[in-house]
Amino acid sequence: MTGRRDFLQATGAGLLAARRWQPAATDRRSAFSLWTWVHGGAREVDLAGWRTRYARLRASGFTGVLVSGGEAAMHGEAAHAEGLVLHRWIWTMNRSGDATVKAEHPEWFSVSREGRSSLTHPPYVGYYQWLCPTRRAVREYLAGVVDGVAATPGVDAVHLDYIRHPDVILPRNLWETYGLVQDHEMAPFDFCYCEACRDRFARETGRDPLALEDPAADVAWRAFRWRMVTETVEVLARAVHARGKAISAAVFPTPTIARRLVRQAWDRWPLDVVFPMTYHGFYREPVSWIEGAVAEGVTALPTATPLVAGLYLPDLPPPALAEAIRAARRGGASGVAMFEAGGLTDAHLAAVREVLQEAG
Ligand SMILES: [Zn+2]
Repeated sequence: MTGRRDFLQATGAGLLAARRWQPAATDRRSAFSLWTWVHGGAREVDLAGWRTRYARLRASGFTGVLVSGGEAAMHGEAAHAEGLVLHRWIWTMNRSGDATVKAEHPEWFSVSREGRSSLTHPPYVGYYQWLCPTRRAVREYLAGVVDGVAATPGVDAVHLDYIRHPDVILPRNLWETYGLVQDHEMAPFDFCYCEACRDRFARETGRDPLALEDPAADVAWRAFRWRMVTETVEVLARAVHARGKAISAAVFPTPTIARRLVRQAWDRWPLDVVFPMTYHGFYREPVSWIEGAVAEGVTALPTATPLVAGLYLPDLPPPALAEAIRAARRGGASGVAMFEAGGLTDAHLAAVREVLQEAG
């Protein structure tokens, strides 16, 4: 059994000591890494069971797992025992599962252009209950959440999901599901027009966002909402780094799409590694689209920030998965992350091993 220092060096993840996990920026391919998101809440699986699952991944060359549910410390122990890095995957701005904050701070929830709170009138689906990123109290609260996660033994990094506004425009493949033609920004899906946002925007610009003739076309109002999410990420990154841990996030596929659909300017965030969900099927694109999507993100990011491309397994039978990994590599990705582990068949893993052996 290798010591912990050896394991960290072997996985290219000296992030614990070095703050920034940094494969050679000039040669991203040499550090190509494999990850998977894991729904880790299955009660019937114990430590030994997770070790078995993680050993199967490690045997196919995986670097790390992004795990939600279950006990973080237990997953950390299982992952480390099998030589994997553990990112603890959490819901961030979407707090539908946070009974305390819903009961005690209904005023923290974001408000649509129609004046309705996402707490009482969630858009699209019942769980779309989102905090407003502009409020200082919200940022402090979330900093406490990530601090608690980062302090958990066995957690190497905090992995932010739902770190954004609700979708003002859904990915193209979901329009029919909700009976919508979202070729423009519609008021019920456009957030946040709460008092805190209106006050701060008015202080900065002298204008009330509710009085804008065409809010979608207003450059300052668009940029304001990108910046409020970015400032929140900055607060969370400071909290996680203060614990000597790394921070990562699952984000929309490209900087352009992320800004337009969910107001994420993620190429400006102080992350140690970024996982754009380059889920081609959501956008009715072919597998080959992944290359360009990845390249846009890699170009926009600081060179020291690795980009790991998220791949959506239900749209990727094994041969297509191999093609998707090749596309991500050609685009300059530092690795790929698959959603999610339960969908990884032995045939998928065989395809992954085959691609890894190819030159590059
Ligand atoms: Zn707000």
